[in-house]
Amino acid sequence: MIAFDNSYAQLPERFFTRMTATPVAAPGLVAVNDALAAELGIDAAWLRSADGVAVLAGNAVPDGAAPLAQVYAGHQFGGWSPQLGDGRALLLGEVIDTNGLRRDLQLKGSGPTPYSRRGDGRAGLGPVIREYVVSEAMHAMGVPTTRALAAVTTGEAVYRETTLPGAVLTRVAASHIRVGTFQYFASQGDTEALQALTDHAIARHYPQADGALELLRGVVAAQAQLIAQWMALGFVHGVMNTDNMTISGETIDYGPCAFLDGYDQGKVFSSIDHGGRYAYNRQPDIALWNLAQLASALLPVIDEDQNTAIAVAGPVLNEFAGLMQAAWLRAFRAKLGLNRAEDGDEALIGGLLKILQADHDDFTNVFRGLADGTAAEWVTNRPAFDAWAAEWQARRDRDGATADQEALMTRANPAVIPRNHLVERAITQATEGELDFFHDMLRAVTHPFTKPDDALWTTPPEPGEEVRQTFCG
Ligand code: AMP
Ligand code: MG
Ligand code: MG
Repeated sequence: MIAFDNSYAQLPERFFTRMTATPVAAPGLVAVNDALAAELGIDAAWLRSADGVAVLAGNAVPDGAAPLAQVYAGHQFGGWSPQLGDGRALLLGEVIDTNGLRRDLQLKGSGPTPYSRRGDGRAGLGPVIREYVVSEAMHAMGVPTTRALAAVTTGEAVYRETTLPGAVLTRVAASHIRVGTFQYFASQGDTEALQALTDHAIARHYPQADGALELLRGVVAAQAQLIAQWMALGFVHGVMNTDNMTISGETIDYGPCAFLDGYDQGKVFSSIDHGGRYAYNRQPDIALWNLAQLASALLPVIDEDQNTAIAVAGPVLNEFAGLMQAAWLRAFRAKLGLNRAEDGDEALIGGLLKILQADHDDFTNVFRGLADGTAAEWVTNRPAFDAWAAEWQARRDRDGATADQEALMTRANPAVIPRNHLVERAITQATEGELDFFHDMLRAVTHPFTKPDDALWTTPPEPGEEVRQTFCG
């Protein structure tokens, strides 16, 4: 039923622990992603059948799977954890999709593993709903990301601050190799494993790269592009630990993530991010910090001579700032409908952001409003906006091709994002056994560039509805 073609399971045994999921009491289907199933060559109708649901819940091991928990390490909020790993997830195996790309299938919430530490190995339905909705929204907005193939409930409770229904998410990723996977083997002084992981990651993600230095260069470029896309959508990841940064350049781990409603550069949502380490405007710096950890881990396989390795890795890391700035400018130029680059563009973009910052105006609606002429309605300081808009108009005139500008803006500025208060509503209702709102929301956020008929999806939260804090699941 699933045509597995497993490569990670062929790596040395110290890369993982082979094991099966802990069965659950009463699997119940929440959602199957038909479009993604088709892309993976998996029959969605089978996934919905009792046999399929048993696989999605971890109660049955599908033919051809080689289930395993991956080991990794990581810096969490800057502090070193020498051993993390899949504490509540199992890699079922890999499939080659209809585009010829290798994709991981992972069950998240599948029970304890040797890497669970004090955790229960389970996931609550709330966080599973959040990851499903937000990751699929990100994909629809053109952001590289892990995907959600399916979600099921377990018929068992999980205990967090409150008692929640348990759930399992089937996550799809280009791979689950993280900066922290490299750090694990580097910290063990296991150069042989580091070389095997490097070769594996290159074959999967950067086939044109010749060696570890070029792998690093590829990841630096992919992450610069990714973070620029986050910034352009007002996305705050919330937990950019090195174990939550992929080598592929896909967004991973939707724990405490949230989108800005009102624009606020220093915004932090995560309840555990006390120092604001992962604030919205810190994300480019933190990405570089994480990439420096990757570079450090790769030194032994970059060159036998560590001084040489450092001398060549430094300049590759230094490419990040320029790539990040260029990708950020490209993204925000598109948001302003500008096809060509001009020297003053950074100041023009900054001018608008400064106006939004002053009154925390709605980031999504102002930018979308630039495309359809409604931006001013969402801005508090109208005189400042009008002055800015005159400058923008002059700049647009110099850019030429007005029709293209509108199409560009409509593609770069989503009308619908998964707004935090609506994600919370979907979670609350799902927890009470009511899934209609979740499915409605999924439909809206997976068509982000189409203005929906129902204004619910585009209306910012009322003051009392605003989500100020998010929690890890
Ligand atoms: P995260 O904060 O989601 O990136 O997770 C950090 C580490 O904690 C990873 O090794 C996870 O596998 C592990 N972890 C998170 N939640 C649980 C849980 N409920 N049970 C066991 N391990 C967990
Ligand atoms: Mg994680
Ligand atoms: Mg997490």
